[in-house]
Amino acid sequence: MEIAFNEATSLDNSRLEDDLYYCEKHGFDYIEIRLDKLKEYLLTHSVNDLERFFFSSSLKPLSLNALEEFTFRNKTDLALMKEDLALMIEVAKLINCDTIVAVPTFNIEQDWQVIKQETITRLNEFLEVIEQTELNLAIEFVGYPNCSVNTLEQSIEIIETIGHPQLGLVFDCFHFHAMNSSFTALDSLPLEKMFLFHIDDCEEKLPGVLRDYHRLWPGEGVIPLHRIFASLYQKGFKGPVSVEVFRPEYWELEPDECIRIAKEKTIKVIERSFYNL
Ligand code: ZN
Repeated sequence: MEIAFNEATSLDNSRLEDDLYYCEKHGFDYIEIRLDKLKEYLLTHSVNDLERFFFSSSLKPLSLNALEEFTFRNKTDLALMKEDLALMIEVAKLINCDTIVAVPTFNIEQDWQVIKQETITRLNEFLEVIEQTELNLAIEFVGYPNCSVNTLEQSIEIIETIGHPQLGLVFDCFHFHAMNSSFTALDSLPLEKMFLFHIDDCEEKLPGVLRDYHRLWPGEGVIPLHRIFASLYQKGFKGPVSVEVFRPEYWELEPDECIRIAKEKTIKVIERSFYNL
């Protein structure tokens, strides 16, 4: 199964150029490029440098992430976000990347119908922009009680209402677990709507208390990854699996070490899940 590295895993301890180098060294198949690291890279490199890297490497780009907090923004923020989207489209085209991630906004004191409508409106605007491209848009719900879209069920409701072939979701094991999204929802999720799969694990905390910094290497926490994989295999899931851990402790590791461990832990969990089916 193909394995991807999400740059959040080495957020503070490396730059895009380091992540590219070490992901290639440790045999990752894909990398998910963060927008902040991309912008930092472009201060000293051109988009063509990135294009050249991927042209000569076996590593491939899996996604560009993310359009952060894309709902309930003022006009200026929305205009800036559209600039980010334009940059992502330009880069994605040159490096052959086909997925852009969008993350909903936090601390919105509105009822679900208002949130749903706003989320649909903004996603439709993005979809209109990417309609002439080969790109897909993946919404990533966040399993925090104060995130405006924080369960798999809500994400599915939005995606089904819009019903656009270029719209799907990021399924992140941590976010799924952290707000008690249901296995019923996961089991009935059509595989073609799961544009990205993030693997991780976390400490044992009550739902609603978990935060990104509680994440652990896959296989080292309490998320029922085996049950998640059972559902995925049932659907015919073939990967890629992208490791995404936001743990400050791991950011203190050298990028070489951090990226090597990320791969080892991920492969171990996949193998274990496979054999136990
Ligand atoms: Zn994620």
